[in-house]
Amino acid sequence: MKNILILGAGTAGSMMANKLYRSLNKDLWKITLIDKDENHYYQPGFLFIPFGIYAPEDVIKPKREFIPKGVDFIINEVQQIINEKNEVLLKDGVVLNYDILIVATGTVPVPEETPGLKEELWYKDIFDFYTFEGTTQLAKKLENWQGGRLVINLCAIR
Ligand SMILES: Cc1cc2nc3c(=O)[nH]c(=O)nc-3n(C[C@H](O)[C@H](O)[C@H](O)COP(=O)(O)OP(=O)(O)OC[C@H]3O[C@@H](n4cnc5c(N)ncnc54)[C@H](O)[C@@H]3O)c2cc1C
Repeated sequence: MKNILILGAGTAGSMMANKLYRSLNKDLWKITLIDKDENHYYQPGFLFIPFGIYAPEDVIKPKREFIPKGVDFIINEVQQIINEKNEVLLKDGVVLNYDILIVATGTVPVPEETPGLKEELWYKDIFDFYTFEGTTQLAKKLENWQGGRLVINLCAIR
């Protein structure tokens, strides 16, 4: 039995798990999918939350709904890929080995790379709306915003 390990059960990781599960011989391949978060966030929906078009709960669904029953789904955080041993170390110390590794851990904004952004005004007067936390905080701010100057800044992602 050979192991396929998929890191990240977001859009890419869950699509890979579904497609591979359907097309590979189940007696020869075991598929394991790992994510640190039980919930799937529909990211395009984040853009509508600050304006009250979507509520936060509209963009969240359990990841398990999108994962075939025969795929081993582990909730844990990936700490390290030890590629010389074909191993992945998880936060709780468990080590998993793989024959094929698929990395699908996505991207995150890194506002801290722009001096002044992620400091005392973060989530008070400065917001991102590219994360669930950022967009829900911005929605709260806009509820009572009386107007003024609004500056839009493009920041780096990692
Ligand atoms: C605000 C916003 C609007 C967007 N609008 C559009 C749009 O209109 N159209 C469009 O096509 N695309 C849009 N996108 C982009 C689209 O959402 C992404 O391209 C897509 O989600 C990327 O999929 P992914 O699987 O690479 O990453 P993600 O879906 O982000 O999945 C990554 C997964 O990896 C997990 N992970 C990360 N690190 C670890 C770790 N160390 N251990 C365990 N798990 C980990 C995360 O929990 C996450 O579940 C938008 C994105 C955002 C944020």
